[in-house]
Amino acid sequence: MARIVMKFGGTSVADLDRIHNVARHVKREVDAGHQVAVVVSAMAGKTNELVGWVQNMPKVTGANSPFYDAREYDAIVASGEQVTSGLLAIALQSLGVNARSWQGWQIPIKTDSAHGAARIEDIDGTELIRRMEEESQVAVVAGFQGIGPDNRIATLGRGGSDTSAVAIAAGIKADRCDIYTDVDGVYTTDPRVEPKARRLKKIAFEEMLEMASLGAKVLQVRSVELAMVHKVRTFVRSSFDDPDAPGMGDLMNPPGTLICDEDEIVEQEVVTGIAYAKDEAQISLRRVADRPGVSAAIFGPLAENHINVDMIVQNISEDGSRTDITFTVPSGDLDKAMAVLGKQKDAIGYDVIQSERGLVKVSVIGIGMRSHAGVAASAFQALAGKGINIKAITTSEIKISVLIDEAYAELAVRTLHSCYGLDKS
Ligand code: ASP
Ligand code: MG
Repeated sequence: MARIVMKFGGTSVADLDRIHNVARHVKREVDAGHQVAVVVSAMAGKTNELVGWVQNMPKVTGANSPFYDAREYDAIVASGEQVTSGLLAIALQSLGVNARSWQGWQIPIKTDSAHGAARIEDIDGTELIRRMEEESQVAVVAGFQGIGPDNRIATLGRGGSDTSAVAIAAGIKADRCDIYTDVDGVYTTDPRVEPKARRLKKIAFEEMLEMASLGAKVLQVRSVELAMVHKVRTFVRSSFDDPDAPGMGDLMNPPGTLICDEDEIVEQEVVTGIAYAKDEAQISLRRVADRPGVSAAIFGPLAENHINVDMIVQNISEDGSRTDITFTVPSGDLDKAMAVLGKQKDAIGYDVIQSERGLVKVSVIGIGMRSHAGVAASAFQALAGKGINIKAITTSEIKISVLIDEAYAELAVRTLHSCYGLDKS
């Protein structure tokens, strides 16, 4: 007997037939004797529709943002999950499974006060566990929502039901958290770019965190952070598989990708995956004074204006007086960033500011890099071999990122993918 959390995303509950199919997946685990809590998203497209309604509602003059009253935004957009949790509970009952729906406030899932992008602070799993143990009842939890310190519904940011699932798994001390989605696992790279991409059997939390932040949109980044902190073994698997196909109920090795502690990965490859993030823009400040406080003068105002800065490259100045600083921002924020920096010209003290759109960041990820030399050199050689120019480079212990022209994005991904032998199993 195990305790399992099963999470189903929007495409998996997109209509009544699919909800019925989800119920069959759940029944399979219940019939195997496991204790199960389910977390559901809203039906595909529902949350977008709800956000659109908030957006298009006439508001007090000057308020355009859907978040202008974030409490009401939350009251509205959290409703999609309320519907699917009830529907799935009914579908389960029709299959003879004892099931009950739960909204975030009923459990309760307590969050901080950041309406619209709240963080979970605490989950009381006592009642869910009691019902599992004493009544064999399946809890069907509405994802994406909790209750804030103001006693109002709070949502967790788009894609937040992944985070709900991992948090519930930690809260009820589940053995495993299964994320059922429209892909059958995590791949070495985007299979639409490189058809030879392979599904990974396992990936370490740290690596998945990098993959998720770099555009592999399988899981909400926060859910991976949470899984890492609480060491929740998380499986990514497909909800479109036949619920009763052989191996589906395998407790240790279900089909899909396991995201787990690196200690669980025996044969660690040097490189695990290649990720990319499009729509990057670059800003260079030329001949900036080389003295304390200059970086703070640049990045402070950008942060205050909620501009997310990514790669930052600063050179050591030749004569100790002036240097160049280059960094990237999402293309959508470029104009705002240029305006902010323009206003700060005197405070920062740069000579010229230059910018460029249409860039992409391609990253090589793998915890095996920590103990292997030459990983970066191979990437640079491979890219050079294809005539791809690198504009900026950053590295961390487990990642090498290069900034290149968007036109070469796909070629770069495929080149790096084969350079590390990821296309061969
Ligand atoms: N329904 C929410 C969204 O679309 C939460 C989720 O699906 O994870 O963002
Ligand atoms: Mg999702």
